[in-house]
Amino acid sequence: MPTPSKAGAGAKRQPGRPRHVPQRTCVGCRSTAAKRGFVRVVRTPEGQVVVDPTGKANGRGAYLCASPSCWEVALKRGRLAQSLRATIAEEDRGALAQYAAGLAPDEPAADPPATGV
Ligand SMILES: [Zn+2]
Repeated sequence: MPTPSKAGAGAKRQPGRPRHVPQRTCVGCRSTAAKRGFVRVVRTPEGQVVVDPTGKANGRGAYLCASPSCWEVALKRGRLAQSLRATIAEEDRGALAQYAAGLAPDEPAADPPATGV
């Protein structure tokens, strides 16, 4: 019994899977994901670097996972400053570190869990 293969005949659109999802890159771990789930950090026109909870603030923005480890890398290795092309002032850095400290330590799925021996 041959299987009827409908090749090319189906020009139907498949609803439910929107292609138009903007991808962002975390400046800490470099992983990409949809915008949702990332925290935006913005360099304001005044030169401050602050967390932008609304995601709509004016200025150059960078994205980070809501994971403290990514923030640590981004801050300590200067990746955030590099991405924003800004110098992060000590007080701004302190505020960002404080924000990171309040995040739940939720690791991305990139690292396999170390179970067993
Ligand atoms: Zn990350």
